[in-house]
Amino acid sequence: MRRALLLALAGLLSLGAAEAPEREVQVRFLMGTLWTVEAEGPGAEAALARAFAEIRRLDDLLSTYKPDSELSRINRTAATQWAPAGPETLALLARAFDYAETSGGAFDPTVGPLVEAWGFKHQDFKRPPKAALEAARKQVGYRHVTLDPKRGVRFARAGMSLDLGAIAKGYAVDRALAGLSRDGMVAARVDAGGNQGVFGRPPALDTWLFGIKHPREEDAALGVVGLSAGGISTSGDAERGFWLDGVRYGHVIDPRSGMPAQHVLSATVTAPTAEAADALSTTLCVLGIEAGLAYLEAHHRAARAIFVEPDGSTGRFRVRPQAGIDWRPARAVESYDVN
Ligand code: AMP
Ligand code: MG
Repeated sequence: MRRALLLALAGLLSLGAAEAPEREVQVRFLMGTLWTVEAEGPGAEAALARAFAEIRRLDDLLSTYKPDSELSRINRTAATQWAPAGPETLALLARAFDYAETSGGAFDPTVGPLVEAWGFKHQDFKRPPKAALEAARKQVGYRHVTLDPKRGVRFARAGMSLDLGAIAKGYAVDRALAGLSRDGMVAARVDAGGNQGVFGRPPALDTWLFGIKHPREEDAALGVVGLSAGGISTSGDAERGFWLDGVRYGHVIDPRSGMPAQHVLSATVTAPTAEAADALSTTLCVLGIEAGLAYLEAHHRAARAIFVEPDGSTGRFRVRPQAGIDWRPARAVESYDVN
């Protein structure tokens, strides 16, 4: 009897040891930002290495900071001739143009010349003189770009360029997650700063929690959003922007006016994919709360948004969570990742 009990106990213990989940977390700097990837499952370490290799591959393909990337090569040649483009780049460009079309140009992957005019590309922030702004505006407009599955990309105007900075990280998050899932991971989180994606269950919690950063204080959060699967992305003026005469100018530009978006301090979006969350958070920064919610209602009903806006002249902030999003104000929680 006693022996049977001992055997049963030993069995339980060994079962426990066999089931101890293999969990890995690694951090790398890629695409100009810090990536944290964590995964749970057999062979997690090797799966993580493959995920980082995939992110690096996409950085090499889509970066506008790397002169040898496919996108840089397209930008150098498409104004004078058809620039060949691979199917993956063309497909991502086509999806980016779809966001441009449906949002009435609030999202626009040709916004580069304006981003540069405001000094956001090389961190030499400035308010551009009127003539420079007008010149840059003429070089912006997704309608002046043609995508062709056979010939590639062609710009109708000189000085144009493509910038996937508002959607490529989300796409890379999705690709990394898909690879981790194919590799047999039961749960994973891919975090590229403002862009994240998850599947499976987090350790010791029912759902993944993401902090919404305080827009003006380092290392402070306004609260957290719960998300069980898909992507979450925050866009705003906090991560890249500058102050001039008491006004904060952020790196999300309204392509229609040429001015940095001013409606909200940040927009956070949850969506079925990290790519959608990425593109939509940028779009909603430009559109603001009313037009942004109407846009989601019309085109992206599976997405949910949270906005942070200035609260009049009080110097405080107001959080505006859309109905249906799992929003938990800061007091109610103890631990979270700051998104
Ligand atoms: P995100 O952090 O995803 O909101 O992306 C911001 C980056 O996307 C900027 O640094 C620019 O490179 C680019 N960008 C700025 N404004 C827009 C816009 N209206 N549409 C698309 N991309 C933009
Ligand atoms: Mg974005």
